[in-house]
Amino acid sequence: MAYEFDLFVIGAGSGGVRAARFAAGFGAKVAVAESRYLGGTCVNVGCVPKKLLVYGAHFAEDFEQASGFGWSLGEAKFDWTTLIANKDREINRLNGIYRNLLVNSGVTLIEGHARLTGPNEVEVNGQRHTAKHILIATGGWPQIPEIPGHEHAISSNEAFFLKELPKRVLVVGGGYIAVEFAGIFHGLGAKTSLLYRGDMFLRGFDGAVRKHLHEELTKRGMDVQFNADIERIDKQPDGSLKATLKDGRELMADCVFYATGRRPMLDNLGLETTGVKLDKRGFVEVDDLYQSAEPSILAIGDVIGRVQLTPVALAEGMAVARRLFKPEQYRPVDYRMIPTAVFSLPNIGTVGLSEEQAIEAGHKVQIFESSFRPMKLTLTECQERTLMKLVVDADTDKVLGCHMVGPEAGEIVQGLAIALKAGATKQHFDETIGVHPTAAEEFVTMRTPVKR
Ligand code: FAD
Ligand code: NDP
Repeated sequence: MAYEFDLFVIGAGSGGVRAARFAAGFGAKVAVAESRYLGGTCVNVGCVPKKLLVYGAHFAEDFEQASGFGWSLGEAKFDWTTLIANKDREINRLNGIYRNLLVNSGVTLIEGHARLTGPNEVEVNGQRHTAKHILIATGGWPQIPEIPGHEHAISSNEAFFLKELPKRVLVVGGGYIAVEFAGIFHGLGAKTSLLYRGDMFLRGFDGAVRKHLHEELTKRGMDVQFNADIERIDKQPDGSLKATLKDGRELMADCVFYATGRRPMLDNLGLETTGVKLDKRGFVEVDDLYQSAEPSILAIGDVIGRVQLTPVALAEGMAVARRLFKPEQYRPVDYRMIPTAVFSLPNIGTVGLSEEQAIEAGHKVQIFESSFRPMKLTLTECQERTLMKLVVDADTDKVLGCHMVGPEAGEIVQGLAIALKAGATKQHFDETIGVHPTAAEEFVTMRTPVKR
C-alpha cells in the first residue's frame, strides 16, 4: 500500500523533533503533529524555563556574597514580572528555532491535536493522513493526587506563568521538580516549605547526597518537612489556602505547588483503534526497538516511562530514525551511566551507582568522600559546604559512581560521565592531574577511603 508519509510523528517535543528531523535528513517523507507548543515540555514548561528561573534565584546568594569581595550594593529588589516576561521572550525565540529546524529539514509540520484512527492512520484538524510508521512522542503531564481541594493546587505547568511571586508556598513532593522549585521560590524570596511524605527526599539518589542537600537547604532557611502529607486544601475567604496535614497540623499558604510525578500523555490519542498496549504503570509498552504491540507504531520519550530526561528522549529519537531509515548507522541506546543533575540550590550532579545501589548489586565497595567549604566562600559569611563522593569497586578498582552536591555539579559530572563510560578506575582518577584551584580537582585528589 502507498502511504502519504514514511513516518508520522505525534508530538514535537525533545524526542519527536529529533526523530523527525533525522528521519527527514535520511531521505524519509516525514510529518510531525503538535497540539500545544514546539519543543515540547523541555523548551516550554521544563528544563529551559526552569533553569532560567534557577539562575534568577541564584542571584540572591551572589548579592549576599559580593560584600565579602568589597562590593557594596544598594538594596536588591526582585521583580517577578520582568523575569517571567524575559523568560517568555526567550521561549518564543526557541519556538521559532524549532519551527525552522523542522521546516528546513523538510518535515511537514501540522499544528493540531493528532488522534490515531488505525495502525497506519492519524487524524489532525479533521484530515486523515496515512503513514508506514507512526511514532508516539507525546510526553507526560503532571499528576496531582485527587485529595479534597486539589483544584486549588498548581503544578509546574502553571508555576511558569504565575502573575506574581506568591509570598508563602507549600511545595509537595520529594523528586527533581519539588526540590528545584522549592529552591526557586525560596531563592526569589517566598517563604517556602517543602513537604515530603517519606523519611528522606530524592529516593534513588545516594544517601550522602540526600542528607547533604537536606542540611544545606535547612541552613539556607528553607522549611523542609519529612513525613508530611497534605490531606485536604481549603480556600479561605481572603483567597489564601489552608492545607490540613494527615497529622492534623494546619499550614497557611498563598500557593500549593504539587510535584508528585508525571503520567504519560495519552489523552484522546485513539490508542483503542490500534493494538498498542500499556504497561502496568500505564505507559506505552515497547520492546528494545521502541516498537509497540502494534508493529507499525513506535513510541519514545516520557510516554514510555523509562528515563524521563530530555537527552534520553533525544537518544531514543535518534535510534528510531536510524533504525528505520539508516540501519547501517543504528546503535541501541545505552541506559547505563546516564548522568543527571538536579538544579536545586545547591545543585546535585550524579552519574553511575549510588553506594546503596552498588552494595545491592553485590559489589564490594570502597567509598571516597569529601565535604569542604568552597574557596569562593572563604571571604564570605556563607557556610555552604560542597560534597563529593566516589563509589569504587574494591575488587576491580572501577569507579562505579560519582556524586556531588555543590555549585556547577551538573557541569562537572558531565565530564566525569565520559570517564565512567570509558571504564575509568580509581587509579585513572588518581593519575589524573587536577585543575587548580577548582572544586572539581577534589575528584582526583581523594586518596583515603572513608569506608570499605
Ligand atoms: P515532550 O517534550 O513532553 O513533548 C511531547 C509533545 O507532544 C508536547 O509538545 C505535546 O504538546 C505534544 N502532544 C501530546 N499529545 C499530542 C497529540 N495528541 N497530538 C499532537 N501533539 C501532542 N529533563 C532534563 O533532562 N533536564 C532538566 O533539567 C529537566 N527539567 C524538567 C523540568 C520540568 C518542570 C519538567 C516537567 C520536566 C523536566 N525535564 C528535564 C524532563 C524533560 O522535559 C522530558 O523528559 C522531555 O521533555 C521528554 O521529551 P518527550 O519528547 O518525551 O516529550
Ligand atoms: P519524581 O518521580 O522525580 O518525584 C515524584 C515525587 O513525588 C516523589 O518524591 C514521590 O515520593 C512523590 N509522590 C508521588 N506521589 C505522591 C503522592 N500521591 N503524594 C505525595 N507525594 C507523592 O517526579 P517529578 O514530578 O519531580 O519529576 C518528573 C520527572 O521529570 C523526574 O523523574 C525526572 O525524570 C524529570 N525531571 C528532570 C529534571 C532534571 O533533569 N533536572 C528536572 C525535573 C524533572 P516517593 O519517592 O515516596 O514515591
